[in-house]
Amino acid sequence: MTLDAAWAVDWVRRSAAAVAEHRDELVELDRQIGDGDHGENMQRGFRAVVAKLDALDAPPATVGDVLRLVATTLMSTVGGAAGPLYGTAFLRASKAGATDALGADGVVAMLEAALEGVVARGKAAPGEKTMVDALTPAVAAAVEAADHGAPPSAVLAAAALGARDGAQATVPLVATKGRASYLGPRSVGHLDPGARSTQLILEAAASAAAD
Ligand code: ADP
Ligand code: MG
Ligand code: MG
Repeated sequence: MTLDAAWAVDWVRRSAAAVAEHRDELVELDRQIGDGDHGENMQRGFRAVVAKLDALDAPPATVGDVLRLVATTLMSTVGGAAGPLYGTAFLRASKAGATDALGADGVVAMLEAALEGVVARGKAAPGEKTMVDALTPAVAAAVEAADHGAPPSAVLAAAALGARDGAQATVPLVATKGRASYLGPRSVGHLDPGARSTQLILEAAASAAAD
């Protein structure tokens, strides 16, 4: 079993739907420890991605083509901290996924590349209360699943669970990167909005692979 460009398109559409559905929640999370625009930023970005997909003459040929379109669109429409971070994540992922179809190892390579991109861009380590805290356990869970011979859909399901746990685990952390770091210890007790949106995007990837 492999995941092809049609899966990637479905992933993107499901991500857009999830981000729209959770827009107010993401705004509220970002209001608590940031400037309250994360839901708006992400909804604007994914809406633009879907508009570009809808306007294509022919469906994208490879997973990499889909992810490159996501990367360039998010970079130019999301803004704030998350725009360049997600843009870089999807750009790196597009290079790792530049084949017709992904097996379990391809999924792992794509997720690892995304994490490397976020870290290269934002210089956050795990434990700083950012999207890195969702992506890092997601990658670890994906590696473990693939090592046990899981098919790509199960690798993504594991990644989504890792991201969920990682996002929840940001609640007790003190933010030391991004806008939330201005609050210092007052950032404790709140879920990081970027970790939450990362969870939503990985859950969308898993559900697109499962159906
Ligand atoms: P802004 O903070 O500019 O308003 P957003 O609200 O869209 O941007 O995104 C905020 C999210 O970006 C945070 O919740 C956090 O997950 C993520 N973030 C901020 N800085 C970094 C960083 N240096 N590395 C990784 N993620 C970061
Ligand atoms: Mg914000
Ligand atoms: Mg902002």
